[in-house]
Amino acid sequence: MSLRDLLRIVIVGHVDHGKSTLVGRLFHDTGSLPEGKLEAIQAMCERRGMRFEWAFLMDAFQSERDQGITIDTSQIWFKSARRDYTIIDAPGHREFLKNMITGAANADAAVMLIDAGQGVQQQSRTHAYLLQLLGVRQIVVVVNKMDLADFAADRFAEIETTYRQYLADIGMQAAHIIPVVARDGDNIVKPSDRMTWYRGKTLVEALDGFVSATDLTSLPLRFPVQDVYKFDERRILAGRVLSGRLRVGDRLLFSPSNKTARVASIEAWSAPAKAVAEAGESVGITLDEQLFIERGDLASHEETPPIETNVFQGRLFWLPNEPLRPGASYRLRLQTREVPVTVQEIKALYDVEQLTNAPSDAVPHHGIADVVLRSQAMLALDRLEDNPKTGRFVLTDGVNLVAGGTISMDGYPNQRQV
Ligand code: GDP
Repeated sequence: MSLRDLLRIVIVGHVDHGKSTLVGRLFHDTGSLPEGKLEAIQAMCERRGMRFEWAFLMDAFQSERDQGITIDTSQIWFKSARRDYTIIDAPGHREFLKNMITGAANADAAVMLIDAGQGVQQQSRTHAYLLQLLGVRQIVVVVNKMDLADFAADRFAEIETTYRQYLADIGMQAAHIIPVVARDGDNIVKPSDRMTWYRGKTLVEALDGFVSATDLTSLPLRFPVQDVYKFDERRILAGRVLSGRLRVGDRLLFSPSNKTARVASIEAWSAPAKAVAEAGESVGITLDEQLFIERGDLASHEETPPIETNVFQGRLFWLPNEPLRPGASYRLRLQTREVPVTVQEIKALYDVEQLTNAPSDAVPHHGIADVVLRSQAMLALDRLEDNPKTGRFVLTDGVNLVAGGTISMDGYPNQRQV
């Protein structure tokens, strides 16, 4: 079976602008609903004398989720001819930011909804700012409820101009701005015959044009050593291939210790030895030389090593009630490695309501900030934009998780700084 391409999207918009309706319509118009689902909900509406709403589909999914009927509790799916989509829940601002920054949920693209009647609201601006902070760059804006604006091209143009200007002000761009009627399906899958003045793409065509998450296998090899087992005279290095591909005979570089050796064998648990292991696989490897390798070492190929540094900049989401302050020390977790670090500087604290940021001497509960972290030991890491796995970090106070974040490195070169 060949794996289909997958794009993870988040749908954001002011309450009542039509998010649930849009999702219901997307499911229906792409033929992704389980058989009989729509009819069951329509019959239920009839019995209760209620007008059918597309949003009821979402409510039905939600209640199945709450009752544990749907197996995958975090994600729902729809399909186009081109690929699969999963819609990531975007709960309140803080939860959304926390999930995205810590990597619990990751969107490749965003659909932003604006109500044609109400136009660009403060929340439409905040949502764009959050997406900008999170690095979501593939954006499609839908101007919904065009029926309430008499399908008027000039009303659409007015909203389009205002919002494009706002996006440009914060350094963003929307790939497409599309007039739709989510309730009736205009410009969702089928072009609308009520807005023939619009010549652009439908929503699903626009989404199909976006690029999906990086294929982890095509990235440079990253294999963090999780455990070292000794069998007879052999040492087996166990771990998961986070990205790239590992082959018998490959020369591996172990960072930050800078030792190299060749892969002598790849052993999979309860399966015959193999020649190749790819991103996502958990394997044990043996080397052609006896090196002292420990849990926490990161293996790569010599031509595509990780960044080695003892200072880096990251964007974090701060969890505890007590603020984060410069000078404080925590334990930094990078995959299987754990080392003490000190907060050197808070370069920018973000205010997601005011849409501003400034240097600060404290990051409050649930704050988002760009910070500089320094350790005594050398670290092996990547920028988030280069590797979605090794471009993330976690801070603990030794017991509890205190922050999750992404590595940007801005202004910090690939070298040791003291
Ligand atoms: P949400 O809060 O953003 O999820 O919004 P809903 O999807 O629940 O929609 C809010 C209201 O707007 C509902 O009464 C929908 O029927 C209505 N609505 C959604 N899309 C459209 C549309 O394209 N045209 C009109 N006239 N109403 C719509």
